[in-house]
Amino acid sequence: MSNNNINRRKSNAVKVGNVLIGGDNPIIVQSMTDTNTSDIEKTTEQIIALSKAGSEVVRVTVNDSDAIKAIPFIRDRLDKAGENIPIVGDFHFNGHMLLDKYQDDAVYLDKFRINPGNVGKKNKKDKNFTTMIDAACKLNKPVRIGVNWGSLDQELLASKLDINNQLKKPKSLDEVMCDAVITSALENASLAESIGLKKDQIIISCKLSKVNMLIDVYRKISEMCSYALHLGLTEAGSNERGIVYSSCALGPLLLDGIGDTIRVSLTTDIDGNRTKEVSVAKLILQSLGIRYFLPDVTSCPGCGRTSSDYFQKLAFDIDKHIKESMPVWKKDYPGVENLKISVMGCIVNGPGESKHADIGISLPGRGENPTAPVFIDGEKKVTLKGDNITNDFKKILIEYIENRYK
Ligand code: SF4
Repeated sequence: MSNNNINRRKSNAVKVGNVLIGGDNPIIVQSMTDTNTSDIEKTTEQIIALSKAGSEVVRVTVNDSDAIKAIPFIRDRLDKAGENIPIVGDFHFNGHMLLDKYQDDAVYLDKFRINPGNVGKKNKKDKNFTTMIDAACKLNKPVRIGVNWGSLDQELLASKLDINNQLKKPKSLDEVMCDAVITSALENASLAESIGLKKDQIIISCKLSKVNMLIDVYRKISEMCSYALHLGLTEAGSNERGIVYSSCALGPLLLDGIGDTIRVSLTTDIDGNRTKEVSVAKLILQSLGIRYFLPDVTSCPGCGRTSSDYFQKLAFDIDKHIKESMPVWKKDYPGVENLKISVMGCIVNGPGESKHADIGISLPGRGENPTAPVFIDGEKKVTLKGDNITNDFKKILIEYIENRYK
């Protein structure tokens, strides 16, 4: 089930390994490793973790000869592990040398990311860019022209600023910056086409770290071309900041139908958990009704009416139970990801919210009868009592799933 009220922008579909990005295809979730790519074991291990978390494409940095020489070995290990996730090589500064010299290794990549702000200066810029695009054409690989305002082509920006300064009413620096980001992406995409890359081998991204500017840039560029668009707020930060800023940046664009693939760029947790960015990206899509990845658990925040922490424990327990069960459920019960569950703290909103869910439970609040009505498909089916409410509810849940999705 998906949000049919969204009018997806028409874009060219691009084949990246076994995945299609753009066109009418689902919006793809991607991520990036933070291991040293030449460490074959650690990089493979992290790609597998990201893939298992739901990343459908993964990018690795290719910053030197050891990194590019590691790619065939990483691919081989992934294949042997049954992971056919496409690998994207991220090239900066020396990409032209690597892609010229190590094509036997580069062929194991499924896409190249080229940052036009980092390919060289003055006359070397077009020459180096051409070398990389030539390699992509020869190896039949798609390319993401990935512009980032942190590494924007400074000559282009300077020329835009010069022109702006001569205007009667000069634009703000932010406006000129947005304009330069868009120009860099579109001019380099045109250049790539003139070298031989096809329209359906090009994806564009224009990354900035300011939410409003990012939205503005993507809204504009989405009307100026039909290239598939990769969305992401760059350098979003960590924890709550990264999650909130990324959600606020991507949400309006996705609702506008803009974006064919997304990445949430979170600073990795102190515990080294890199997969959070994948969970957040999936939740953004799910919250907007664009794609569903796992059953949705609606739970109230709780308040003074909840008589104990039993309610919070139940909500967390059900959430955890679903996440842990999903690898099996996904195979055994196709469509289970669309299920809606509600876990509510008391009679105020409990019965009402539970009726909106496929299956819901309303716990007894302070001063209420110590019973928990369970609603199935909008109707009260059973009332749970006693000390075993959590397990009883889990049993009812699995029975419901078995009946509905087998
Ligand atoms: S449903 Fe009840 S417990 Fe939950 S927030 Fe509302 S009033 Fe509080």
